[in-house]
Amino acid sequence: MEKQAILAAIIDSSEDAIISKTIEGYITSWNQAAERMFGYREEEVIGKHISILIPKDRLSEEDMIISCIRRGQRVQHFRTIRLHKDGHHLPISLTISPVRDADGTIIGASKIARDISDQVRAERETRQHLENLELLISVGKTISEKLDLESTLQKLTDITTRLTGAELGAFFYNNVDDMGQPSLLFTLSGAPWEEFDKFGMPLDSAVFHNTFNGKGILRSDNTLAVPVISPSGEVIGGLFFAHSDPGMFTEEHEKLLTGIASQADVAIDNAKLYEEVKTLNTRKDEFIGVAGHELRTPITTIKGYLQLLEDQTTEGLTKDFIEKALRQVNKLNRLITDLLDVTRIHAGKLDYTIGPCSLTDLVKECIETVRQIHTSHVIESQLPPGDLIVMADSSKIEQVLINFLINAIKYSPGQNKIIIQVTREPGRALVSVRDLGMGIPTQHLQNIFNRYYRVSNSQHVIAGLGIGLYISKEIIDRHNGAIWVESEEGKGSTFYFALPLA
Ligand code: ADP
Repeated sequence: MEKQAILAAIIDSSEDAIISKTIEGYITSWNQAAERMFGYREEEVIGKHISILIPKDRLSEEDMIISCIRRGQRVQHFRTIRLHKDGHHLPISLTISPVRDADGTIIGASKIARDISDQVRAERETRQHLENLELLISVGKTISEKLDLESTLQKLTDITTRLTGAELGAFFYNNVDDMGQPSLLFTLSGAPWEEFDKFGMPLDSAVFHNTFNGKGILRSDNTLAVPVISPSGEVIGGLFFAHSDPGMFTEEHEKLLTGIASQADVAIDNAKLYEEVKTLNTRKDEFIGVAGHELRTPITTIKGYLQLLEDQTTEGLTKDFIEKALRQVNKLNRLITDLLDVTRIHAGKLDYTIGPCSLTDLVKECIETVRQIHTSHVIESQLPPGDLIVMADSSKIEQVLINFLINAIKYSPGQNKIIIQVTREPGRALVSVRDLGMGIPTQHLQNIFNRYYRVSNSQHVIAGLGIGLYISKEIIDRHNGAIWVESEEGKGSTFYFALPLA
């Protein structure tokens, strides 16, 4: 009997709800913790069915539990939801064990329920913090990313709207354009513009007014407004959030947003700088285009006169000088063509005239052209028997070949041999130009086909614009070919291109 009393005392002092029920589910005992947890007094529930504690959509759980109990199995740490007397939901962890009589027959079950509200809340908060952290990291990314102003504002609006859990978020920004004209830019997230008025936040509202007048953060039942302030203290914009449920915005949101708002200014500055760079780049291309055209006209005239002179001069020093001058004029012409091509490529306006052409003939012609300009190197050619016909713009492929050959000579000072090889491969023709020169350090290999990219070399100063390979890549890409390089520093480089056979 004493043992019974001790047991009853233990059960009553437990923090966990301990309930017993018959195998049919009728409650037979109910401790004090159960009373606190579920709100029912003992006399209210004894004899009642356990289902009074189970939310409607979870009633089937009881069948599952009972069938386990009938089989003599325990159900351990089962996380579920139960109902309080007042109807609110309680997250709990359940452990249910069969109760047997003296013969070992299962006659009911004992149920230990632990309130896990705190745990669930902590888990939710951790998840929320993690999500916030991810969002904050993405703010950092947005700031350092090269984006235009609109996209930057949009991203910041999207991120902050998610951070606050707002139904609607907006970013208003006082922009001053190139010409010094002010305008108000805005981006929205979560809902269309029409919804904004519904939240009591029309453009002429006090919330807007106060935010832009530097009154600091304003938080009301359904709205939150945070000014974006420049380092000089000027309000340059505002973040606005709305939710139809009251009290959704907290002090924590305010803190998070203050941090972001102070960085938003940097993001906006970056975006503006990026836009400026883009504009300046376009202007530079335009300038190169105009300058190129202006240079071309007098050069064509000079070339014409030199050719006339060449025709009329038969031999001697004069002829020699004229030929030298002509070679320089051709070099200048190529340079101008390259410069103009870069601007055309950038504007997507480089025209191609595609037709069948013999790659071997083209290679021979290019070798001849380069031989006339540079006598320092021997160009050895290894050509396949017969012709290799490709569908191509011959003048453009010539441009690539000459670029490869001249580079091979330029970047192999002190050497005197270049090898150009043409091979037939299944479905394509492969051309390679090999030199034994300075080679290219590995870390530069992936960039040398980029516009204006040059490898600086402390030992040799070699003049160039860094556009030849960029144009070559563009040309080969447009022919559905492939272009690449293999190189070892100090040993030499081999440049390749492959074109589909006609
Ligand atoms: P440029 O020769 O006018 O600089 P390119 O676009 O033709 O421009 O070449 C880009 C860069 O690639 C060069 O500045 C050079 O550093 C490197 N390069 C090109 N060809 C060779 C080569 N055959 N050997 C070593 N480096 C080369």
